[in-house]
Amino acid sequence: MLSLESFAAERLAGLEARGQRRGLEATHRADGVWVERGGERLLSFSCNDYLGLSHHPRVKAAAMAAVETYGAGSGASRLVTGDTPLMGQLEARLAAWKGTEDACVFGSGYLANAGIIPTLVGPGDLIVIDELAHACLWAGSKLSGAETTRLRHNDVEHLDDILTERRGSVRRVLVATDGVFSMDGDLAPLDRLAEICAAHDAWLLSDDAHGLGVLAEGHGSAALFPGAAIPLQMGTLSKAVGGYGGYLCASRAVIGLMRSRARTFVYSTGLPPASAAAAIAALDIIAEDPSLCARPLARARQFTAALGLPQAQSPIVPVIIGDSHAALAASRRLREQGLLVVAIRPPTVAEGTARLRIAFSALHSEAEVARLAEAVRPLLAA
Ligand SMILES: *Cc1c(COP(=O)(O)O)cnc(C)c1O
Repeated sequence: MLSLESFAAERLAGLEARGQRRGLEATHRADGVWVERGGERLLSFSCNDYLGLSHHPRVKAAAMAAVETYGAGSGASRLVTGDTPLMGQLEARLAAWKGTEDACVFGSGYLANAGIIPTLVGPGDLIVIDELAHACLWAGSKLSGAETTRLRHNDVEHLDDILTERRGSVRRVLVATDGVFSMDGDLAPLDRLAEICAAHDAWLLSDDAHGLGVLAEGHGSAALFPGAAIPLQMGTLSKAVGGYGGYLCASRAVIGLMRSRARTFVYSTGLPPASAAAAIAALDIIAEDPSLCARPLARARQFTAALGLPQAQSPIVPVIIGDSHAALAASRRLREQGLLVVAIRPPTVAEGTARLRIAFSALHSEAEVARLAEAVRPLLAA
């Protein structure tokens, strides 16, 4: 197996030279925002747990009670014996919260997109996908075997041009985008995209991984555009909801089709009961407390105002550094000041756009955000 060993070693050395080698660091997340790494206590601006619900007493209690009642795992695919009664309750809650007829829970957001897209389109069909959309939308597109075309970021006229030119020669068309872009924090113009899709009989899939719980009083990015017809709304339970799992909210027929045909649903074990229970408890808190949901964006806007950056549209604010080594150095400088802001490098973002990706939480105080802004200021000038 010498060829395998030399292949892996050479690839790793190449990544190292480009500042793109990645490694794990054991991290004890002591609560929503304080973490312990390598004996240090750091204030994290790199978690997607925007509301701190992963550590909320009610969410933890619900998860623990579900373990006691239903066990640690679900035992099989949901279609066999893995459909704990909590799952139906969770799906009803998600559908009601998003205003769709039905919902379907998957093992994760990544698994959701890897299952949804190939269930709807295949060879002979066209997928148009925003160039900055999340990796799992691209993965689902690849798995589908449909022709995939890159949409210039948030460019609605480009979408209209593509559909005008291509719609007549393909069977079905799916248009996929993040609602909130995960590495840039900007929003997709879902209203305009929905209009153009409707005019060309194309199906719009929006990924609300970073919207649920933090935009439009917690309803998510689509709710910022009331009236926009978005027939396929997916997202994750692992960010603001604080646990784990993915979902699709859609019509009864579409969800029925997913339950019969989405391969990552049919052939993968159901979500652990504790994750379903935690998500239900977290959705209760989100529905009860709009002021909690509003806080991450307010903190992000405090930060962008302090530094004269464009106003934040979501709790995610990128500080573009450019070079991967420089982004790592910037992250190290913040860490020396007790602040954890992870550098995001290619291929997660485009070559030459390595960055600090700052994620604000409802648990950050205004004083802590001000402290971060002062620590980041010299990095902007550099
Ligand atoms: C994190 C993320 C996902 C994947 O969700 P997981 O539940 O973590 O697998 C999907 N889409 C976007 C935009 C994301 O940021």
